[in-house]
Amino acid sequence: MKINFHFIRYAGGRNNLFLLLILLSGVLALGCVSQQPQPGREWPISAEEYSSSAAGSTEKLIWPIDCKPGVNCDIFYPDIDKDGKANCGQVGSIGHEGTDIGISWGMMEKGTDVYAAADGVVKWVFDGKYDRCENFGLPFGIKLNDNPDCNDPAGPPQPGASSGYRVCTERGDYCNAALKTAGGNANCVWCFYGGNVIVILHDANKTSGVFATRYDHLKNGSILVRPGDKVKAGQKIAEAGSAGRSSGPHLHFEVWSDWYTPIDPWAPSCGPTGSLWRYKNPANQT
Ligand SMILES: [Zn+2]
Repeated sequence: MKINFHFIRYAGGRNNLFLLLILLSGVLALGCVSQQPQPGREWPISAEEYSSSAAGSTEKLIWPIDCKPGVNCDIFYPDIDKDGKANCGQVGSIGHEGTDIGISWGMMEKGTDVYAAADGVVKWVFDGKYDRCENFGLPFGIKLNDNPDCNDPAGPPQPGASSGYRVCTERGDYCNAALKTAGGNANCVWCFYGGNVIVILHDANKTSGVFATRYDHLKNGSILVRPGDKVKAGQKIAEAGSAGRSSGPHLHFEVWSDWYTPIDPWAPSCGPTGSLWRYKNPANQT
């Protein structure tokens, strides 16, 4: 079976396994349309472009990874309201609370930079997990990776302890007295399934209501920041990988409006109008 999936992965085009798994996950059955950008579509600007633009000219999010949608990466949109389709009307990852941006294995190996999407302070960092996981989303219980870092965790979540693809920490500020009363210590543990993960806190008053951004599945050993570090929008914080509960190399990028409400940066229509992205117009570079 492993040989068969390798065949699929390398059978022309980028990132076929990632696409295959999305299809297997049921998107096709729900009416799949091309995820390629439409002609004239506007995209978030890159970190390079951001750094050359006027400082302080935006308070919105910049594109968090060094790739061009539709050129060398693919977007799978969030479905925050879990109604079975991406909130902004494009192909989405059903029930998913983040944007998945898929790249090829070759791009991962070469090194694909991940950037802070806005100015902020690093809250949590998890590193050291194996980063070539492919087990997530496979049918019939198929496992391509034996590495424990790619597989289900064992035992109850514990702050500071990781198991399988799960990493856990204290909820910190979020874990107030009411939560403790309601759920005991279990309510004070916060776990992520992204293996190697960064969470950055932002000043929501300066970043269009964005309180935090989260970056999952990062390449093992690539993380350049530590908790407490101040980061600037566009600053390289890591490289993309396939750590954690993952089907192939991609960045899971999540946006929160508080502790803890995920929001869709693409809403309402996958485009610049009213969204949380800072865009450029490819036609006239303005
Ligand atoms: Zn994801």
